[in-house]
Parts: sequence; C-alpha cells; structure tokens
Amino acid sequence: MHKMHVRKGDIVVVITGKDAGKKGKILEAQPKKNRVVVEGVNIVKRHMKPTRAVPQGGIIEKPAPIHVSNVMLFCSKCNRPVRVGKKILPDGKKERVCKKCGAVI
Ligand SMILES: [Zn+2]
Repeated sequence: MHKMHVRKGDIVVVITGKDAGKKGKILEAQPKKNRVVVEGVNIVKRHMKPTRAVPQGGIIEKPAPIHVSNVMLFCSKCNRPVRVGKKILPDGKKERVCKKCGAVI
C-alpha cells in the first residue's frame, strides 16, 4: 500500500486550488488513489433522488476527495502548514515531526 504523508484525523491546510488556505480535518484517506477527503474542502453538491425518508429529494453538500499533494500537515505549534520529517524512537517506532520546530505531529 502506498504511504501518504498524512492520514485520517490529521489537520491539514490546502495549499493549491480553489480552497487554498482552508484548514480542516482529514475525514477519509484513500492511499490507493493518493487522495484525501478534508472536512469543509472541495464541497460538491449532489442531487438526491427522492426517497421514502426525503420524499422531495434534495441537494446534499459533501466534501469530495482531493489529491494528497494539495495538502500540507498543519503544525499547531508553528501555527502554519509545515513539512514533515520522521523520527525513529529508541523502541523502533516511527513518529512524524514538524521539520520546523521538531514537535511531534
Ligand atoms: Zn512546527
């Protein structure tokens, strides 16, 4: 499986496209497609067919996946999007750290 620099639950900032500058949480990661779904980003409107629960049908707005290269991890310490480095702990576990301030993200 392809490794991405971000994963579900991460707070990221969009760096390109119509939503550039927006910050949100990753709701879904799609490593095979190199895409992520970010809360409040790339909102698309979908027309719903009427159902028994919603007889009149309607329009729902939901975030669509964007390419993972369009987002950067947000560092709450630096208060900005940052590049991520890796740190290997003494027990062999890997941690992601902010390349700028060294904080574990
Ligand atoms: Zn930082």
